Amino acid sequence: TRRRLQALRLRHAQRSIPSRYQRRQINHFISKEADPVPPIPAQRTPFTLAVKDNITTKFSPATTTCASPFLADYNSPFEATIVQQLRDLGAVVTGKTNLDEFGMGSHSVHSAHGAVSQEKDGYSAGGSSGGSAVAVANGEVDLALGTDTGGSVRLPAAYCGVVGYKPSYGMLSRFGVVPYANSLDTVGLIAKGVGRIREVVVRRGLWEVEDGRDPTSLGRKARRRIAQGREGYGGEDVELEGVRLGLPVEYNIEELEGGVRDAWVKAAGRLEERGAKVVPVSLPTTRHALSAYYVIAPAEASSNLAKYDGVRYGRRSEGESDAAEGGVLYAASRGQGFGEEVKRRILLGSYTLSSEAMDNYFLKAQAVRRLVRRDFDRVFRLENPLQDEQETFDLSEMSEEIPMENKLGPAEVDFLLCPTAPTLAPKLEDVMGGQGVLDAYMNDVFAVPASLAGLPAVSVPMLVEGEERMAGLQLIGQYWDDARLLGVAEAIS
Ligand code: GLN
Repeated sequence: TRRRLQALRLRHAQRSIPSRYQRRQINHFISKEADPVPPIPAQRTPFTLAVKDNITTKFSPATTTCASPFLADYNSPFEATIVQQLRDLGAVVTGKTNLDEFGMGSHSVHSAHGAVSQEKDGYSAGGSSGGSAVAVANGEVDLALGTDTGGSVRLPAAYCGVVGYKPSYGMLSRFGVVPYANSLDTVGLIAKGVGRIREVVVRRGLWEVEDGRDPTSLGRKARRRIAQGREGYGGEDVELEGVRLGLPVEYNIEELEGGVRDAWVKAAGRLEERGAKVVPVSLPTTRHALSAYYVIAPAEASSNLAKYDGVRYGRRSEGESDAAEGGVLYAASRGQGFGEEVKRRILLGSYTLSSEAMDNYFLKAQAVRRLVRRDFDRVFRLENPLQDEQETFDLSEMSEEIPMENKLGPAEVDFLLCPTAPTLAPKLEDVMGGQGVLDAYMNDVFAVPASLAGLPAVSVPMLVEGEERMAGLQLIGQYWDDARLLGVAEAIS
């Protein structure tokens, strides 16, 4: 046995640091290799695609590291459906992009591959799909895939001055996407203009495709049925005339940077000039959404990440723990395999799911999630096709704090218009220097409500005058109103 253990240890030592890490030259691509697969049929227009490294690719680049030391040499035996679908539409995968480990973060700094930054001026690229956003902003690829659990596509898009789209939950297949928090995870797209995203999702029909290998993928019949009552699925131009846009008053928070607020108000003014109707609306649960998100997401993550133990998944710890009992092996592998932020989430999640904390945290957060969804349903003109008929739990405890009937202005709007993030991209050195954990969580305050409700949202760049920099303007739509949302986003950008 001892000899076998020694041999094992040696094998682990040999595969310690994969050479691709040393070869890495730019921080937003993890691997960048020519794609040898398959020749594109003449009738398809080829386009280049970068893939966030928590989405599996089978051909070159073959590894899927999730920016985690645990998966440094993980080769997936299958490719994500979304990658295959895009290849079928003419995509040539040119590389895998850097991210916060397993998608957990807001600045793409928690990565085994080093932090991502926008090369120009060293601003934070946002996270967790920062590598994808930088690749698009630099013009290195036409389109990039990201994942958006609580803003990870929209926030980097906003910081990098590009477009980021998070679809309705259950629209784009998540098969082959490494889960972070299943009830929130979506695959999103990043491009310079809305047109390219609209092309693949609406005109080329990705929205229609159910994937039987993804249990959260909406059924084919339901997709069609819901879309029937909705505009935009024909790919036609969407008129701004008569579209009602709601400005949520609760998003005008104290922490909102002046330039971002001005740009938001100006954008609303310009849209009014073009025939849209702009009205204030109230989404009172917004201020609780962030806390609910940071209970629910880590709880689901702690359960998802349990499989990384060095036995079932992930690199096994080197050194003496091999010889010890199972528990030590697990602990040592997890201790070495996960980065600091991921460990923090696992601890948070394990705590809020523990018997003494469950009622006060996890169940409360689920209640807030329902309220967030109700807030949205109350202001949108369209009904939520997934709406539950009755509430199944007691909200009485919360109703004192959250007035139920304080809708401002006329109720019915088509879309909500708000900033994507409260500030412009901070300098990376400030983020890595003094900022605390909670500061990073704060960036997600405008992004998580749509995630909790499963709604489609898109961030389009808007110029902040005086600063000559871009901020993100976010449009949020009712569930499965994606086609019209992208149509309006294209019209205003
Ligand atoms: N910043 C958020 C988090 O850390 C969102 C991440 C994401 O959408 N993947 O959880």
